[in-house]
Amino acid sequence: MELPVDADMLSAALLDIEDKRSWDARAELARAILLEQAAQELGDPLLIARARLCQANMRMRDGDITGATEQIWQVHEWAVANDARVLLARMHVLWSYIHQHLGDAEQGLEHALLSVELLDDEATDHMHIWHRVKLADAFWAAGSMDAARVRYAQAEDLAVRSGSLALLCLLNNQAFAEFDSGETQRAEQVAGRLQHLAVEWDVRLEPDYLDTIGSIQVGNGSFAEAEATMRLCIERHGEGQHDRADALAGYLLTLAQAQRGRGAFDLAQQNLDECRDLCVDRHLLDMLVRLHQEQAELHAARGEFAEAFAMHKTFFTAYQNLHSLQREARTRTRQAMFETVEARQEAERFREQARRDPLTGLHNRRFVDESLPTLIETDPALTIALVDLDHFKQINDRLSHNVGDQVLIRVAAMLAEGVAGACPEGFAARMGGEEFLIVLPGTTPGRATALLDGIRRTVRDHDWRDITRGLPVTVSIGVAAIADDPDATQPTLLSTADSHLYAAKHAGRDRVVSAASRGYASAA
Ligand code: GH3
Ligand code: MG
Ligand code: MG
Repeated sequence: MELPVDADMLSAALLDIEDKRSWDARAELARAILLEQAAQELGDPLLIARARLCQANMRMRDGDITGATEQIWQVHEWAVANDARVLLARMHVLWSYIHQHLGDAEQGLEHALLSVELLDDEATDHMHIWHRVKLADAFWAAGSMDAARVRYAQAEDLAVRSGSLALLCLLNNQAFAEFDSGETQRAEQVAGRLQHLAVEWDVRLEPDYLDTIGSIQVGNGSFAEAEATMRLCIERHGEGQHDRADALAGYLLTLAQAQRGRGAFDLAQQNLDECRDLCVDRHLLDMLVRLHQEQAELHAARGEFAEAFAMHKTFFTAYQNLHSLQREARTRTRQAMFETVEARQEAERFREQARRDPLTGLHNRRFVDESLPTLIETDPALTIALVDLDHFKQINDRLSHNVGDQVLIRVAAMLAEGVAGACPEGFAARMGGEEFLIVLPGTTPGRATALLDGIRRTVRDHDWRDITRGLPVTVSIGVAAIADDPDATQPTLLSTADSHLYAAKHAGRDRVVSAASRGYASAA
């Protein structure tokens, strides 16, 4: 490889690794190490940090989670001290993965939220898409498939607009997540879109995506289709340049499941044998566990119950061994995670920083309590508003609590977007239930009211039919501004907003009420 000679070329070479989804983690790791040397020679700390984060990412993909963790800490401190937002955003994606790997889905989610929150104009298109996909994955891992779906949809929107190939990966992940959540119909539908898109864009689906599709087909009982998919998958794997024996073992297993399903037991057994050879040869312990399980199923399907029982016992022992090995590996990673006092404090700081509402991803009341008092003291042009959904109880009662949740997620996204577009230093928070707070620093009550009325209309005019089946969704908004009461404190400001909200409800809902407009119903 030719080493880049100036900072711009080096930056471009790093970006190539950062924004690419390459499977060859070892080759990319070697490249990133060389790029770090080049950055050291230039004496450019940002480029050094970026090269190190690339290395950490590749170590992680190669399964060396502990090594990745140690390396991220090397970057972490510098990135925080220098407020390197793009780098921080990328770093939080890695932290998210590592926490999920450690079995801490909540922390994984918080880091994923930060990875999206830190996106700004400097972030690449790929990051805007990819970080939202990772956020969706994190929501799924935390058990909130509804919230995940909203993020997949946002990412899809961006990917479609920019014609990004990341769309394929997105649909693959969503299909897998739906399938894993037991949503077989939805999984099939998303997998169908993935296949359709591949035809439309004239791209060949990667073996991993075909494995997702094949697994879904097995799950839905379409065994012959699944077998065809898996044959294509394995054929494509054979054409690839990288030796990914672990992947091949998994494909053979899915193929064997499809064959067992359609009664081709001998073929299934042949593929399981091939899979076993790979597992033993390459020490693929987790795959071996899955293999034992499938072997037991195959024996049972053939009526060989004694063998099936013996194999179940083998499976169980292997499963336990694997888990104790994994526990040890996780302990090592945890140690790397909390090696130093600074690291511990830093982790604590992020935990604190990320006070979030898990359903909507917005800040929560705790965050408001931590940040609003200072704003009230320091910003004479601060305006806030309480936003409450109208007749929300009806949506819960007539449709379902689940639909209610989806409405809340969507409204929350509209609030966040409305604020971000007009007042980047502002934010939206969920105060509880169906009540939200919007905080607009440096915004006069007049401007704020216009902005809030825009948000109100966005909610009302949104096409809600797909989830509420015709029930309208509207919000009432009560505004309060420091300009109207320079001595306001958090309780008095919130109480003013609340009384204006009450006035808005009383006047018929779906409107914004402020001190100036008290009694004024905004034009429909
Ligand atoms: P109004 O226009 O006067 O505000 O009427 P409303 O029905 O919106 O107000 P009310 O306070 O009577 O009902 C609020 C409902 O919000 C009741 C509660 O079950 C529901 N709710 C609160 N939190 C959640 C949540 O997290 N998910 C869902 N689905 N519903 C929630
Ligand atoms: Mg309400
Ligand atoms: Mg309410």
